[in-house]
Amino acid sequence: MSHFTGRRAAAKCSICGAPAVARVPYARLTLCSRHFMEFIERKVERVLRRAGALRRGARLLAAVSGGKDSAAMLTALARITKSNGVEVVGLHLVLGFGPYSRKSREAAEEACRVNNIPCIVLDLEEVLGAPVQAIARRARRPVCSVCGLIKRYVINAAAVELGADYVAMGHNADDIIAYTVKMFLNQDLAAIAKLGPSTESIDSLAVARLRPLYEVTEKESLLYAILSSTPFLHEECPFRPVTPIEERVKEFMNRVEEEHPGMKINYIRRLESNIELYKKIAGIEDWDIQQCQSCGLLSAGNECSFCRLTRRTLGEAKGAYIRRVIRELAAGLATRNS
Ligand code: AMP
Ligand code: ZN
Ligand code: ZN
Repeated sequence: MSHFTGRRAAAKCSICGAPAVARVPYARLTLCSRHFMEFIERKVERVLRRAGALRRGARLLAAVSGGKDSAAMLTALARITKSNGVEVVGLHLVLGFGPYSRKSREAAEEACRVNNIPCIVLDLEEVLGAPVQAIARRARRPVCSVCGLIKRYVINAAAVELGADYVAMGHNADDIIAYTVKMFLNQDLAAIAKLGPSTESIDSLAVARLRPLYEVTEKESLLYAILSSTPFLHEECPFRPVTPIEERVKEFMNRVEEEHPGMKINYIRRLESNIELYKKIAGIEDWDIQQCQSCGLLSAGNECSFCRLTRRTLGEAKGAYIRRVIRELAAGLATRNS
């Protein structure tokens, strides 16, 4: 997909003939603002419908980082769910990375506000009693990997405590492709098997996950956020590695896509239809599902990786405490709304 600039601005929308704002070579379309947005929303709606999330009364927790992808996701979700009785609630985690985190929080809250969606904000340093960087240092692990582990845990714990039926994450098609190619290079097929457009819930241990932007590329998600006037932060996280493998894969795939339009969308669609196959190969169905003995949520062993990490670095497993904090927050919200 490309933006129209300069002399190409005269191009017309393939559907209505209005001035076009985007060219989508893999779909052989040029689209005006309205039809581009509808094109994206159809992709998002498809993910929700196939996961069974478009039913009256369903509650969807949208993880909003403040970046373009979750901003685009939030607006698309708000527009799609408006008429079918699905409740959307935003969740933003304050990571405590200085001005970047302050601006991220503002953007996330703004994105929720313009969409009329309630936003729950959780300050990780406050609930953990230590900054994420300090925990990473004590664990002798990269900040990114520790931050990812903490975010995944807290987002799922929040979804459980808030009674959400689904958690929506803002990963776009390029993210999914880059991550699965990286995992293929590592021959970690179990990791690939977890990256379908949705995953099912596991009793009360893990809430079902949705990736509404599964078929939406990075450029499309950026353009959608801009055209829908959804506020977002343009900055990258200061702790992002300088040369992540995913970035190299994205560059490579974009070059291939330019020469062979449709490669990326084919990949993502085939990946979706092959997920069950990957699950079989990796033997995921036979995996033992366990409950963390400290916090009661999903775990691969006796204790979940979050409780192990916090026990090792903070002297106590924090899962049960975090769950209590969120429960109290949720109760406060419920009384405020009643
Ligand atoms: P990342 O792992 O940073 O690429 O983010 C992937 C997805 O995780 C985002 O699109 C959001 O849905 C979610 N996410 C990341 N950071 C945050 C945050 N600080 N608060 C809430 N959700 C987040
Ligand atoms: Zn049009
Ligand atoms: Zn635990």
